Amino acid sequence: MRTGKIIEIHCQCGFLLFRYFKAGKGRLIKCLIPRLSEDFVGLKGAATASKPRCPSCDKELGIIQMVHGEPALKLNQGTIRGIRI
Ligand SMILES: [Zn+2]
Repeated sequence: MRTGKIIEIHCQCGFLLFRYFKAGKGRLIKCLIPRLSEDFVGLKGAATASKPRCPSCDKELGIIQMVHGEPALKLNQGTIRGIRI
């Protein structure tokens, strides 16, 4: 059985950006986009190397990169509010 849980990712401004299935423990560095369970930003379908912004405060959330053949958002740690696991 796969272990992990759904976590909520918020912007510093408090906007709920997405819900994500996080496997294992540790700090969240990248989010694989196919693993988002809810996406309030429109990350699904975002182009590689694009920089999605918070719909509320317009800060950059990170950059879209390909990781093992899947699109992922490399998080801008300064924009994402601390995540407790
Ligand atoms: Zn924001």
